[in-house]
Amino acid sequence: MTTPYWVAGQPATSADLVEIRTPHDNALAGVTSNATAEDVERAVAAAHAVAEEFAALPAHARAAALDHVSRRLAERADEVAELITSESGKPVKWSRIEVTRAVSTFRWAAEEARRFSGELQRLDTDPAADGRLALVRRAPRGPVLGIAPFNFPLNLVAHKVAPALAVGAPIVVKPAPSTPLVALLLGELLAETDLPAGSWSVLPVPNEVAGALVEDPRLPVVSFTGSGPVGYSILDRVPRKHIVLELGGNAAAVVCPDWTDLDRAAQRIAMFSMYQGGQSCISVQRVYAHEDVYPALAEAVVAHVRKLGTGDPTDPATDVGPLINEAAARRVEAWVDEAVAAGARVLTGGRRAGAVYEPTVLADVPAGCKVVDEEVFGPVVVLDSVPSVEEAFDRVNASRFGLQAGVFTHDVRLAFRAAKRLAVGGVIVGDVPSFRADQMPYGGVKESGTGREGVRSAMDDLTEQRVLVLTGL
Ligand code: NAD
Repeated sequence: MTTPYWVAGQPATSADLVEIRTPHDNALAGVTSNATAEDVERAVAAAHAVAEEFAALPAHARAAALDHVSRRLAERADEVAELITSESGKPVKWSRIEVTRAVSTFRWAAEEARRFSGELQRLDTDPAADGRLALVRRAPRGPVLGIAPFNFPLNLVAHKVAPALAVGAPIVVKPAPSTPLVALLLGELLAETDLPAGSWSVLPVPNEVAGALVEDPRLPVVSFTGSGPVGYSILDRVPRKHIVLELGGNAAAVVCPDWTDLDRAAQRIAMFSMYQGGQSCISVQRVYAHEDVYPALAEAVVAHVRKLGTGDPTDPATDVGPLINEAAARRVEAWVDEAVAAGARVLTGGRRAGAVYEPTVLADVPAGCKVVDEEVFGPVVVLDSVPSVEEAFDRVNASRFGLQAGVFTHDVRLAFRAAKRLAVGGVIVGDVPSFRADQMPYGGVKESGTGREGVRSAMDDLTEQRVLVLTGL
């Protein structure tokens, strides 16, 4: 059966069929179809037409719809997790966690929809404004185009859809071409709600069509999560639109000499450099350990990496499955080979079989190698010894990216120092950079992006302040 796409809340299919195959064994995960030009036009026109009505929809109605989606996702959690695994090759253990997170992303959006409001501002602090009062509301900037990547095909779509619906902004979602099925399943749940027709659409389309959507003036907000080159090309094309860019990184963990539980740090680094094949924007890619703790840490990281479950993503014991496709695994292989040719040592891993790349730990990687400077987006971690914590912070900051950093220390002064010195969107003390709670502000500095997600932050970003001044009070 062909999985329908969603045009202004209604299911549709086209003759342009798309087969989605699991990267693990090439089995058919499902069939959908690319939206026709007419359906794309219908979706955008409907989003534009409904914008005013949707912005005026009472908060309780928006919250009820978001609560419904949250509840239904929880009810169908096993089926949804299996679908994520079959379309993306993500180990089912991580798919289940992703579903749980999406359940709370929608629930949190429902809660925020109920309390999202403006402020009352007194103006009489200035004699020129005596007798005046300002009401500051937050109004949707307008319909949103949400573009999502493949690596969290449900929760990153949820981070586009839930905040938009919470503030009353219509949204047209374009899922990643390799992982549209779970976004289309989310459409089924949205279709069960009373949200107005036109307030949401989910359209699988080729990238050229997505490019045309980016330029459509009826979608004044583009919320993009994906790679830097695509994100910046969008910014270049439509610099006058409101653009949110959630891009990549090469996240680092710093291990300070005071950290007592090296085995715990090693276990977290091993797991979160490799989990779901390292295909997370905050996967641990670089580790800077103080020279006092480096030898023991490196040994323990290698030991923990060797214990990771690899292979069949449907096996609940698997931590590391295939990459999204063989081309991605070949690129990772080429980057590791480049580092080895330059003098790097492989402490474990370093081999590829089809779309699977072995969890790989590298040491002595010379400056200038892609495995350090670029985003690997694969199961590879680079270990490095540093003579001081300050040098570790310098090395973290030497990146052109800045999403999150992890700092293993028990020293609260070092924690504050890290927050002050590290040029990243978030510092995680006592853990890896890969920690994300869906309600906290999340996003990058430098080439990791602009704008913030995390439900409340995204709601702020999708709205603008409008002021009403009352005179003669
Ligand atoms: P990608 O940039 O290749 O694709 C992202 C989306 O953009 C897809 O839906 C794709 O079809 C679409 N796209 C491609 N060309 C387009 C065009 N010309 N116009 C409009 N849309 C277009 O990224 P990916 O490979 O799917 O995802 C991996 C990247 O996403 C990594 O760099 C990763 O770090 C990043 N990412 C960032 C975050 C974050 O929150 N900062 C989260 C997850 C992933």
